[in-house]
Amino acid sequence: MVKLIKTKKSGKLLAKNCGAACLVFFLALALAACGISPAERDFFAMDTYIEIQAYGKNAEGFLTEANTETIRLENLLSAHSEKSELNALNSGKTPNSPELLNLAGEAVSLADLTGGAFDPTVLPLVELWGFGDEMRVPKQSEIDAALETVGYGKLRSDGNKITLNGTRLDLGGIAKGYAADRFGLLAAQHGVDSAFASFGGMVAAVGQKPGGKPWRVGVKDPRSDGLAAVLEVRDTCVSTSGGYERYFTHEGKIYHHILDPKTGYPAESDLLSATVVDPSGTRADALSTALYVMGKDRAIEFCKENQICAILITENELIPLSGADRLISEISQSYELIKE
Ligand code: AMP
Ligand code: MG
Repeated sequence: MVKLIKTKKSGKLLAKNCGAACLVFFLALALAACGISPAERDFFAMDTYIEIQAYGKNAEGFLTEANTETIRLENLLSAHSEKSELNALNSGKTPNSPELLNLAGEAVSLADLTGGAFDPTVLPLVELWGFGDEMRVPKQSEIDAALETVGYGKLRSDGNKITLNGTRLDLGGIAKGYAADRFGLLAAQHGVDSAFASFGGMVAAVGQKPGGKPWRVGVKDPRSDGLAAVLEVRDTCVSTSGGYERYFTHEGKIYHHILDPKTGYPAESDLLSATVVDPSGTRADALSTALYVMGKDRAIEFCKENQICAILITENELIPLSGADRLISEISQSYELIKE
């Protein structure tokens, strides 16, 4: 994994390679704000290394509950665990909790919004490519068979009930975003107004740093261990999706974990990563996955049409959209800043 560190001496941004399969590419660059140290926890859940921190007198109690809550969400939402409630839903068992049905309903709305670039029914394809387990290149006939059962249009959801009609759900594209939202809600319930969470490529920035400064969030350089940019944000979530997060190489070709639900193959994107800034973590998470699938031109058009605050990164360009340029405080010289 990659951990972003601001050295106290030089103030320079470093990305330290910690060597795990799943990348953590955000961390609050918020060491000892105003001399106050935050309460902190780190743990592994949702297939990623998670770091949470909070300030104030209720911080410890809040973090303990946030940790427990994240584990609960993993048990609710993992498509790959036999014990999860999502697995029960996929196996046709009812009833399911209102919480799961709500989130599944939200996933369908986001699939609709993105024209199916984000599609929560990709599970048969994810399993085929082995991204939850052993990765391999499937045969075309296997992909064709899996595609028969993929397509959010087959789902029916009325808020109280979801009918799968032969599909199976994978909420991996929004689970961390939902966890980020729950982190924010729990902070409010505990009276914590300054907290930060990093769930792999998903960040929740609650309030601001003590002393009134914004949280500084690093956007990983997809081509190196460094940073492409640093964002300054308050009270929002930031999600990045990129093909470099999880992939394998076969006969010289790279196959990554973000799938194009139309072709059944890893998305042939001309983007190296897509970052979305949105107060809803669930929305930011789904949209970053979707923008990556869409590729540069469609993603630019989509963000302009829907006022999505986003940063797209190509081989040599960094493209802020819908006001994202105002959040950027540093940018790597490897990228040309494109004003759209
Ligand atoms: P993220 O890392 O947030 O971009 O989400 C990637 C995860 O979402 C993958 O590991 C899959 O479980 C799932 N996924 C892959 N492709 C898609 C897609 N096009 N739409 C929705 N979920 C996807
Ligand atoms: Mg996502």
